[in-house]
Amino acid sequence: MSELSFDVVGAEGPTRFFSSLAQGRLAHAYLFTGHDGVGKRTFADRLAQSLLCVTPKETLLGYCGTCSGCKMVASGTHPDLFASRGQLKIGDRDAPAGFHETDDMTARDLVRQFSLHAYEGGWRIFIFEDVEFTREAANALLAFFEDPPSNVLLVLTTDAPGKLLDTIRSRLVEVHFPLLSRTNVETILRRKGYTDEKEIARAALIAQGSVDRALAALDGATAEVRDAAIAWFYNVVEGGGVDDSGWAVRESLEEGLETVKTLVRDWLVMRVARKEIAPLAADEARTVAKLPKAEPARLAAALEAIVEAEAIARTNVTPHLVAEYVRMAVATCVR
Ligand SMILES: [Zn+2]
Repeated sequence: MSELSFDVVGAEGPTRFFSSLAQGRLAHAYLFTGHDGVGKRTFADRLAQSLLCVTPKETLLGYCGTCSGCKMVASGTHPDLFASRGQLKIGDRDAPAGFHETDDMTARDLVRQFSLHAYEGGWRIFIFEDVEFTREAANALLAFFEDPPSNVLLVLTTDAPGKLLDTIRSRLVEVHFPLLSRTNVETILRRKGYTDEKEIARAALIAQGSVDRALAALDGATAEVRDAAIAWFYNVVEGGGVDDSGWAVRESLEEGLETVKTLVRDWLVMRVARKEIAPLAADEARTVAKLPKAEPARLAAALEAIVEAEAIARTNVTPHLVAEYVRMAVATCVR
């Protein structure tokens, strides 16, 4: 019998959960939740491959990598695997409230796809990332839940389960994917072909458990924004007069705010919880630990102000004003 593998870095909980199931006990639909870049999609892909692999096996998870099923999954040509990458909108071209031109798929396509029989006689699997439904499409999906065809598996992945309609969410079995460990992130970066160990260690340190964030840190432009926001933050805390908020432009505002928010959060955590809670910006922990002992209540207020600023940043207020708002909130902490 050939060697089976199921290779997803991290995701111990989900792996245990599905390993304990027999194929016949799979639910019709799952919702994979968790932060971006923690392996939800990778796991869904490997789960699909496990089910479509034609090599006989006793466990639910595991694939041979060499059979016809595995080869078709690997090349993206398996007729029974429908997997969307990136945000998917399902609407209805005939309905006034549909997504119209921006539709990737209509409710009718969805119903038709669900009702088709498997070409290969096994599972028919749908993986939708960050899916958005119009009411019509949601109804189509609910109809699917009323009378699910056998051997159809639907996996939705999202970092914001609260955005799903309750009627849909309640029909899905939720599986949560926690943040990755630093070692996990390093392993994944090496697998992605990164070889500079110093860079890998630095990216994993600031990744906060997300490969997406590690990759962003490895991207020169993003790293520059982060460095600029960090320098700006220390300058504000020290009461520096030079307002070098070069990061506060439309393209990098969100990234800059996220960086400042992380630092304020770490500052607050170090004031109230000390060692029990790990800092998010691990590479800046030493510097943050040396910051003035601000009142926790003021730090919490500053944190709230930054969350507000993030919302304001999505309107047409100028980035400079948004940064100024945050500057005042942070400066208040040390006065
Ligand atoms: Zn196989």
